[in-house]
This record gives sequence, structure tokens and C-alpha cells, in this order.
Amino acid sequence: MQKVSQRKTYDVCIVGSGAGGGMAAYVLTQAGADVIMLEAGGMWDLAKDSAMLEWPYESPRRGASTKDHPFGEFDGCIGGWDIEGEPYARAAGTQFDWWRARMLGGRTNHWGRISLRFGPDDFQRRNLDGLGDNWPITYADVAPYYDRVDRLVGVFGSKEGLHNHPDSIFLPPPTPRCWELMVKQAADRLRITCIPSRLSILTESIHGRAACHHCGQCNRGCKTNSNFSSTGVLIPPAMATGKLTLVTNAMAREVTTDARGLATGVSYVNKLTGADEHVNARVVVLAASACESARLLLNSRSSRFSHGLANSSGVVGKYLTDTTGTDVGGYIPKMVDHVPHNEDGVGGAHLYMPWWLDNRKLDFPRGYHIELWGGLGVPAYGFMGGIQRYPSGGGYGKSLKDDYRKYYGATVGFSGRGEMIPNEESYCELDPGVVDQWGIPVLRFHWKWSDHEYKQVKHMQETFRSLVAQMGGEVFSPMPSKEEGYGIAAGGQIIHELGTTRMGNDPARSVLNAHGQAHDVKNLFVVDGGPFVSQADKNPTWTILALSWRTSEYIADQRKQGVV
Ligand SMILES: Cc1cc2nc3c(=O)[nH]c(=O)nc-3n(C[C@H](O)[C@H](O)[C@H](O)COP(=O)(O)OP(=O)(O)OC[C@H]3O[C@@H](n4cnc5c(N)ncnc54)[C@H](O)[C@@H]3O)c2cc1C
Ligand code: SF4
Repeated sequence: MQKVSQRKTYDVCIVGSGAGGGMAAYVLTQAGADVIMLEAGGMWDLAKDSAMLEWPYESPRRGASTKDHPFGEFDGCIGGWDIEGEPYARAAGTQFDWWRARMLGGRTNHWGRISLRFGPDDFQRRNLDGLGDNWPITYADVAPYYDRVDRLVGVFGSKEGLHNHPDSIFLPPPTPRCWELMVKQAADRLRITCIPSRLSILTESIHGRAACHHCGQCNRGCKTNSNFSSTGVLIPPAMATGKLTLVTNAMAREVTTDARGLATGVSYVNKLTGADEHVNARVVVLAASACESARLLLNSRSSRFSHGLANSSGVVGKYLTDTTGTDVGGYIPKMVDHVPHNEDGVGGAHLYMPWWLDNRKLDFPRGYHIELWGGLGVPAYGFMGGIQRYPSGGGYGKSLKDDYRKYYGATVGFSGRGEMIPNEESYCELDPGVVDQWGIPVLRFHWKWSDHEYKQVKHMQETFRSLVAQMGGEVFSPMPSKEEGYGIAAGGQIIHELGTTRMGNDPARSVLNAHGQAHDVKNLFVVDGGPFVSQADKNPTWTILALSWRTSEYIADQRKQGVV
């Protein structure tokens, strides 16, 4: 933790160091602003702290999960579904899970690096099908910032010219693996578009960062900085300007304001001492993740802002969305007893399937994309989780070992990731009775899927089953029924929460304007997933990065003009 001056007034205080906060720190320090960043988690040094290349046998746990590493002890992100001392509540009947990171770089330390641009239709969906709302900006407004993110961060992929899946400035994609080519053959037969993935992993060296050496362990964090994390790609250049004061273990409690209703800084808990502290700033930028930023605003109450800061519309916390998701896995006999072959590659699939159909011809309004899984990972704890599902699989001793050898690499799976339409019944608010370990009121979630999402997920299930069948395989689980929601993952489980401080032109229906600036407080901005007006059938982080760059550039311009 660097030394904080309580007396000084910093130009900008950024809360959170993940995708949105890291990019804001990068752009604003390059623009010459004196920036302080408050991060609730601890420091993290990729080169020292990543578990890259550790073997399962080096740990008595063999890689099994721990409380603050729910995706396995080697995973690069500290946090989880439940954080001690930091509860959250669910309204009766609500199924919603909230994944939170607590470390420098936030969730970018282990995200999947699927780096998709939203397309032109995604910003104007209401014009096309009358549902949800349009964004106050178009693809053309964001495209130059996507270009900059591509050049700075690096993303591989292939030029396809698909209307609503815009190409990036791509590095060359890696060659598909054998099992992926088999998936592609099946997809081609079913006329499902299957193209190289778009991942922010370097297949060529850029900006002094090494090209990927194909260890396949991206979720652990990359010691050679060959994939994107805020920790490795955004924070170090911001620090190198000498303009960034980084304060870790600083849990922001409230944005403070003055008599004019302008933000004056942020009060926070020093988690190491338990003391309440405050930092003064001319501009406050929230990037604590969509729901945490909404929580901060709702907790920033005063006589002037009795319903929370920037909330004259009552929209803070509303229109919360997550990506829809469901999975189907299967056993492919053709892949049993395969000839050993090289499967090296990046830590993610080399192919994916963007949305390929026309919703006007279907009974649900929005699309999804398909992510693939399979192949020959290093065996660790939970290896092949459930060999009893394979024909004659399981047992004890030699027959069990033989089955593992036989079936290793003979599984493929498909995960759908689709667009949810915001609805009035999915939102977060402050719980009236529950506080965290520092006495800060916590969020209570409300959640409801509509028929649009259920029908879309049913289509995913049917499609994935056809893909497994086309490969000559057998699925592991029966088709989930309507009563089972066709297998839809609970809200929050896909970890793409968006929309809680949405942007818009109408201050009565939105929290922020088209620049990510609060309608009510001109020196307050949000740069995480909160400003999103809709989900799209894409993962959101490339758009968080582009929008954060756009907002940060706007802040720098406004500062130059003396407006904020
Ligand atoms: C396993 C996994 C896989 C994913 N895969 C993909 C993918 O392939 N593609 C994609 O686009 N997205 C993916 N995502 C989502 C992606 O990680 C998020 O969209 C992105 O990280 C959001 O950025 P953010 O800046 O809003 O929040 P975060 O990255 O979560 O950063 C928020 C930071 O704020 C800090 N913070 C929170 N509250 C406070 C407070 N009160 N005071 C101070 N600091 C605070 C947190 O500690 C954290 O460091 C994935 C997420 C997970 C968990
Ligand atoms: S697969 Fe490549 S980018 Fe991912 S952790 Fe290994 S070397 Fe780094």
C-alpha cells in the first residue's frame, strides 16, 4: 500500500482495479491526472504469485478448491461466491449468486479472455424488436475505442465480416486442435457458424510482452504476461507514469459530497487497521463492479440525496442482467483410444460459434453464442469428474485406471451464453437489516427470468444435443424439462452482471449520460458493467474496457476545459 495524503486533493479517485478501473487508471494517468485508486483486495504480482506450471502433485490438495479459490487452488483469482464477513441477501424466491473478486486486478486475473465486440444491432435493439431500451450511443461511437483496446491489449481472431460480430484488429489465431476440428465438422453439417475464437491472448509479442507459450493455464494468471489482466497490462504502465497512488485493502464505504451536491472524495475502511479514512478528489470514478458500484451509490446517502447518490431517477440497482447459460457435455466414442497427438494451445478453446440465426424466425427474441470445451487437460483433483457416466466406466483398481486411460480426451461439451432482456423484477437494493463486518449495508437481490430466456435456453439445449449426436456421441444428461427451466443457470452464475447504473438520454430513466457521467453529479462517473443498457449475446469485458477508455478520455477533456 502506498502512502495516502489525507490533506491532498487528488485529481481523480478510482474505486476498483479490475477491467474498468484499470483502464481508467491507464488512460487518466497517461493524460497527466494525479490519480488515487482504492482497491478492496490485496496486492498481486503475476510473476511471483501465479501458480503457472505448478503440478497437481506439488500440492497435497491436488488443485482442489478452497474457500477463497472456488475454481481450484491454482486459479488466479481470490474471491468467490461467499466472502467471509461480506454477506449479501436474496429476496424470497430469488435464485441469484454473486461472484466477487477481492484483489488487485479483480476478476481479470482469471477471466476466460473471450474478447468480443458488441455489434451495431446490440446498441439499438429496441429499434429492431421493440424490447428493452436502446443505448444513447451507437457502435460507431465505441468502434474507435475498441480499436485502441485491440492495439493496446492484443486479441487474436479471424476476419469474418459478420454484420453483428464486428472484427477486431486481430493477431493470428492458433490452429484448431483435433477435437475442435471434429466439432467444426459437426457444426458445418448443421450449418452452425463455427470460427476461430477471439481471445485476448498474444499469439505474437506486442509492447514487450512475450507471445503465449501454450501452457494452457490462463485461469491461473500468466507469469509471462501473455494474456490480458488489468494487473499485468494496465496497472504497471499507469504506475510507471508516477501519477498513480495505489491503496490496496481499502474498502470504499461512501462517496462524499459537498453543499453544492458535488462529489468531494471517497471514505473507506482500511482493512488492515479497521480505521475509517477519507481521500479527497476532484473527480470520482466508480469501477467496483456493477453491483458494488450500485451499492456504493445507494450507501452514499445524505439529506440532499436521501435515496442514494445519483439516484434521483430511482434507477440505481435496477435493470440488473446476467448472461443466460446452460451446458451439455457428451462422450464421443470416435475419440476413445485416440493416437497421442499434440494438443498444445492457449488456455481456452481455439474455436467458437457466434449467433448464426435470425430471431425473427424463432420464438425467442435474442441470440446466444456457443463456447466449446474438451481435450486433454493435465489431470488434477476432480479429473474427468464422474467416470461413472461413461459406458461401463468407474469401479476400482485396475479397471478404473484402464477406464481413465481409455476415456481421457473423449469428452466434448458446449456452453451457451445468451442475451437476457432487462426486466423490472431483476434488481438489487440495500437490505434493510443486514450489514457487513464494517457495518456497511449489503445488497439484497431480486431475480426473474422471462419466457424469452427460457425459450432461448431450450434452443441451446436442443442445439448442443444435435451437435453431440452429429459427432456420433452420447450426452451425459437427459434434456431438462420446462419445470427445470430447461437447465438455465441461476442468475449471476455466468458472472456477467450488468446494467445497475445504466446510461441514457433521459435523466428520469437512467443514472448516467452517454459519457458515463452521473446526470445528478457532474464530477461522478461509472466505468464498470453498470452503465450497460443491454447484455448482447457477447461477453461484456471488451466493451467495459472500450467504454472505460471513452469515459476516461471525456474526463481528461473536461478537466482540460476546467468543467470538472
Ligand atoms: C471465471 C470468470 C470467467 C469470465 N470470463 C469472461 C470472458 O471470457 N469474457 C468476458 O468478457 N468476461 C468474462 N468474465 C467477466 C469479467 O471478469 C468481468 O466482466 C470484468 O472483470 C468486470 O470488470 P469490472 O472492472 O467491472 O469488475 P472486477 O474485475 O470484478 O473489478 C472490481 C474490483 O473492485 C474491487 N472492489 C469491489 N468493491 C470495492 C469497494 N467497495 N472498494 C474498493 N474496491 C472494491 C474488487 O476488489 C475488484 O478488484 C469472467 C468472469 C469470471 C469470474
Ligand atoms: S496459455 Fe499462454 S497466455 Fe495462457 S497462461 Fe499459458 S503462456 Fe500465458
